[in-house]
Amino acid sequence: MTSRLDEARAALRRTFGYDDFRPGQAEVIGSVLDGADVFAVMPTGSGKSMTYQLPALVEDSLTVVVSPLIALMHDQVQQMLGFGVAAATLNSTVPEAASRETWRRIRSGDLRLLFVSPERLLMDGCMDALRSAGVRRLAVDEAHCVSQWGHDFRPEYRDIARAREALGNVQVLALTATADKATRADIAERLFPPGRETRTFVHSFDRPNIRLTFVPKDNPTRQIERFLKHRRSESGIIYCSSRKRTEQLAESLARDGFNALPYHAGLDQGTRMRNQDTFLQEDGVVMTATVAFGMGINKPDVRFVCHADMPSNVEGYYQEIGRAGRDGLPADTLTIYGLDDMALRRRQIDEKEVPDERRRVERRKLEAMIALCEGATCRRQSLLGYFGEASEACGRCDLCRGGVSLVDGTVSAQKVLSAIVRTGQRFGAAYICDVVGGKESEQIRRNGHASLKTFGVGADKPVAAWRAILRQLFAAGAVAENNDGYGGLSMTGKGEAILFGREPIQFRPDPKPRAAEPRERRRASARDDEALALNETDEALFQHLRGLRATIARAEGIAAFMVFPDRTLIEMARSKPVDLWALRTVHGVGERKREAYGERFVAAIADFLSQAPEAQVTR
Ligand code: ADP
Ligand code: ZN
Repeated sequence: MTSRLDEARAALRRTFGYDDFRPGQAEVIGSVLDGADVFAVMPTGSGKSMTYQLPALVEDSLTVVVSPLIALMHDQVQQMLGFGVAAATLNSTVPEAASRETWRRIRSGDLRLLFVSPERLLMDGCMDALRSAGVRRLAVDEAHCVSQWGHDFRPEYRDIARAREALGNVQVLALTATADKATRADIAERLFPPGRETRTFVHSFDRPNIRLTFVPKDNPTRQIERFLKHRRSESGIIYCSSRKRTEQLAESLARDGFNALPYHAGLDQGTRMRNQDTFLQEDGVVMTATVAFGMGINKPDVRFVCHADMPSNVEGYYQEIGRAGRDGLPADTLTIYGLDDMALRRRQIDEKEVPDERRRVERRKLEAMIALCEGATCRRQSLLGYFGEASEACGRCDLCRGGVSLVDGTVSAQKVLSAIVRTGQRFGAAYICDVVGGKESEQIRRNGHASLKTFGVGADKPVAAWRAILRQLFAAGAVAENNDGYGGLSMTGKGEAILFGREPIQFRPDPKPRAAEPRERRRASARDDEALALNETDEALFQHLRGLRATIARAEGIAAFMVFPDRTLIEMARSKPVDLWALRTVHGVGERKREAYGERFVAAIADFLSQAPEAQVTR
């Protein structure tokens, strides 16, 4: 007798062309098929969607998927249709006639997945109609949106429990990629019916294929260009903290020959959608974006995520870098952070009109982000530690590779603090560092600060080293920004304790600028190479297949990865199947896609081989 889980595995192979479950999927799917309410916290890219897709297929029933992202529902539906799964969406952008057709299919029992926004679900009549059509379960995507303690609260998510009741207290499957303990408890309380058993699964947050690198900000544009140098044909996202910056950066990268496009909420709808479509549909596009971009972006082959400015919290950071390497292949990240980022973020929180309790939560989250930037031990360990997970040092992040150690910095700190005090606690970082370093600017002369005792006490070190020390003092809370709008700095109580020798402080020397190129030449581990590397012939075939994929995607108006993801094309380029039978075993080739595209791909491979007879063929 085959179990339900075996049936689900068979559907995974037949429909999606995937060999087996990814870690964590089987437990969640098994529980869903048992009929339990399930709360699954799994990292981005772990394949959360499969946990509602497969049960709907195995049971031939309708699952309503609640998601906050109307703009992306269309893509989710297209992706499902690509695999031959009956899916549709109801939202404010769907034309009347299409909605009527969807309702017909809901009532006839054809539909497996219905994507809706919470607002739409709660609209008059919608829930009753769904209830009488026999909805089997409610899947809540991005479930952290229900909680105030999360980082992306959406008030309309609060009413989902009401929808659950109105649908006949159906089974609930809640999914999220980020939630700390408090947020998790809040989500459970708000979504699940009291008195019914909820099975919770918190899967490891580790994403071993993503490499983490942080660098202190020095010249961000140049730091980004250096990072991108070896990534010409790769897709990636660069997050910036302002709209203007996304546009400037896109322009400057475009001048350098990159296919770079900006994305932020201030662009008109048309441009925004066009840029997003280009990113999704074409290969090798760099998106310079604010954090408005990316939630729910399913593109599996994003090869890098860069933060041009420090993120505001670890959850957001984790979610943003999580958009890289969903296909499981190696991906890189670079986070550039500076004192001005820290100051800006602190100010933003202080100025926000929110209850004090909320402000405290945000401040705590920011301090954790700063600590991650300024850390001295393995990034992965610190990141996973934040989510309550113990782990080994990764051996691949900048700190594991760079081997930094903390040095006692009390004397240096005292020099900086004394300069701050003696100049009257009203000057900014650049000025203070010039005073310590003994760089006599016009302003310093005018203020008479060249004759201070501290002037030039640090002339033995470059000014950049003093900037690093001041930044770390700021990060540690020994120095704070004044509320003057000019970025003036003053000493805190903690700073005073250091200045008067009551408390020591340790610093991490800033890395040399070249460390910003994690993948340059010296690769971190051989495994990375194997996953992506192709020999010359296979690389040529891969590019040939990419060309075919682009032609098909354009003709059908869908994203390239919806035809086949890179991983599938890499496997094809290696194993060179020349008939549909051989194609069957390639990753990501399910029944529907084999029918729709199989002939064209095997023909392209055969054609390529007839011109490169030295290559090996699989039959
Ligand atoms: P998440 O929602 O957790 O971020 P998705 O559900 O979008 O992740 O899945 C990421 C990618 O992984 C998708 O392209 C999906 O088709 C693929 N995927 C899901 N499950 C598997 C599996 N068992 N084997 C291979 N690929 C999978
Ligand atoms: Zn590490």
